Amino acid sequence: MAANFGKILIGIYVEIKRSDGRIHQAMVTSLNEDNESVTVEWIENGDTKGKEIDLESIFALNPDLAAGEDIAPSPETTPPPSQASVKVNKIPKNRRTIAPSKNETPSRDNRVGSTRARPGHQQPEPAPPPAPAPPPPVQTQMQAPMQSQLQQQNARRKSNCVKEVEKLQEKRERRRLQQQELREKRAQEVDVTIPNYEIMYMIRDFRASLDYRPLTTADLIEEHRICVCVRKRPLNKKELTLKDLDVITIPSKDVVMVHEPKQKVDLTRYLENQTFRFDYAFDDSTTNEMVYRFTARPLVETIFERGMATCFAYGQTGSGKTHTMGGDFSGKNQDCSKGIYALAARDVFLMLKKPNYKKLDLQVYATFFEIYSGKVFDLLNRKAKLRVLEDGKQQVQVVGLQEREVKCTEDVLKLIEIGNSCRTSGQTSANAHSSRSHAVFQIILRRKGKMHGKFSLIDLAGNERGADTSSADRQTRLEGAEINKSLLALKECIRALGRNKPHTPFRASKLTQVLRDSFIGENSRTCMIATISPGMASCENTLNTLRYANRVKELTVDPSSVEGRPNIHAVNQLDPLDAQWGVGSSPQRDDLKLLCEQNEEEVSPQLFTFHEAVSQLVEMEEQVLEDHRAVFQESIRWLEDEKVLLEMTEEVDYDVDSYATQLEQILDQKIDILTELRDKVKSFRSALQEEEQASKQINPKRPRAL
Ligand code: ADP
Ligand code: MG
Repeated sequence: MAANFGKILIGIYVEIKRSDGRIHQAMVTSLNEDNESVTVEWIENGDTKGKEIDLESIFALNPDLAAGEDIAPSPETTPPPSQASVKVNKIPKNRRTIAPSKNETPSRDNRVGSTRARPGHQQPEPAPPPAPAPPPPVQTQMQAPMQSQLQQQNARRKSNCVKEVEKLQEKRERRRLQQQELREKRAQEVDVTIPNYEIMYMIRDFRASLDYRPLTTADLIEEHRICVCVRKRPLNKKELTLKDLDVITIPSKDVVMVHEPKQKVDLTRYLENQTFRFDYAFDDSTTNEMVYRFTARPLVETIFERGMATCFAYGQTGSGKTHTMGGDFSGKNQDCSKGIYALAARDVFLMLKKPNYKKLDLQVYATFFEIYSGKVFDLLNRKAKLRVLEDGKQQVQVVGLQEREVKCTEDVLKLIEIGNSCRTSGQTSANAHSSRSHAVFQIILRRKGKMHGKFSLIDLAGNERGADTSSADRQTRLEGAEINKSLLALKECIRALGRNKPHTPFRASKLTQVLRDSFIGENSRTCMIATISPGMASCENTLNTLRYANRVKELTVDPSSVEGRPNIHAVNQLDPLDAQWGVGSSPQRDDLKLLCEQNEEEVSPQLFTFHEAVSQLVEMEEQVLEDHRAVFQESIRWLEDEKVLLEMTEEVDYDVDSYATQLEQILDQKIDILTELRDKVKSFRSALQEEEQASKQINPKRPRAL
């Protein structure tokens, strides 16, 4: 029908609009039946030019063809916006693990894109902005007599045109009715009791347009010195009860998409789809075994090859860190055999049997400790508080840490159980305490007592706790400060591992200080599993987690480009007893300064001041306690000396001179020591006040959870 009509147009002149906005006349030269369009031609500056235009545009610009009928397209006939514009397979492969070649500059961000998907059927497309006034028509080379002839021709054809336009309109009306029926049918399916049902349908439509290619066991396990991946957990019971929406899509083996609901000023809701790429992305159906296969398993060999390996679970509390590392602890019965700790141990014992390694005669040991508010507690020794010391060779030692020999996987499982029950004892919920502490489980290989390799598996504190620095409660603030510092320092240490950087601020936190030996050396490898909750309620924290994971991996280079051992600059030796009291600098504080400089975006000047105050306070606390203990010991000695002295006076002819001299000596000593301790307590108290003041200065928007 439209095709017939199109034929009528052939040979007549119509107004056309050019892409630059110009409007001028052109002749219809042919009809393209397939897509209801015509080809028009005109002469411009001596050249014949042509263009294909759809019939509707022709009518819109030439209302006289339709004899005054309104033929503007109705919104219903406008095709829905293409939501599939974010096709993941179009994302260029971001090869961050490979050293950038000279002409290949790595982008600063793994985030490969952010697009908006609007509701297709719920919300009509907003009106486009008004078109700019078209410039005056171009002067085409047309003769005047020819024009009047054409006008007559056009007039003759007008009546036919009207009929055809009517038919077109009928067709349009039918389509509109069909669309409406479809919409009504869908509306019946809509569960309006879901709080964000509009968003849910947008996400559903979006997902329908995707081409899913999840990770499978057939996928290659790539060699990474630094591997950063993301794991999404399923919606849990609580989220399902609250009808929270799953806003995370993992369409392929390395892409994570966050559908962030947004609202425009006119209150129209839309989705902002943010896309990130990592080494691997595990969706909510992935098992621990599968996550292990691509993350920690490749690192087991590293420790047999005299290397150091670390594997971190990083994320918000409740996102699945402990589930991934330790196994399922949700029920009454702990099943730690399915966690990465146990799976790694299983493979260590398997590897040990291989002829190559069997002949090395290696022994396997395990340690399990936690770092809470900058202090180390042994989970295999009733949470004994341990001291961290660094010797002159910059070797960090956790003094007194229990290292238990293990002969088989079952031995390891038992230790994990002991450690876990110790970790959470007296807690109302497993997460109440674990969200604020880092748990470190280590498998150590020794050969004739000498360290051969070490695998540290770390279940990190909840990253949202790093934002607790302006809490009203001091304990919470100090925990928050330590978490904030340690996660920033961890990022820097991993980045430094990839970049062969000379000095990293590892002393800025206990976590990085304790793990320091794992971040240096050519044969060190690390893996970070960023765990994310799928719910819309967790969207902001999820985005923070993804951004952090992103920064860990950016700027890393191929290990083969790392030449020789890292050049660690000689730094001051550290012994807590040597730290200068009250002096504004210490190796820890120097590292903190460096760390904050490296992270200016995340650390505001106020937060830096707060961190400094906390560092000072923590150092002072350590010293006050240590001095107090020393004074206490000394007091016992004084008591004994004084007792002897008093006994002496009971003799008839005791030496009064000697008595007075000795008593004076004891008292002088006591006064000196007690005055010193009192002064320290005074400064400690003012440091406590400073910390409190500094915490109040922190911009409430900062810091973000890390
Ligand atoms: P986190 O250690 O990050 O605070 P958990 O590992 O304790 O979080 O997980 C919180 C809850 O979610 C637990 O009940 C856990 O069993 C469950 N969970 C976490 N990840 C998964 C998963 N991949 N599959 C099924 N349940 C999970
Ligand atoms: Mg946990």
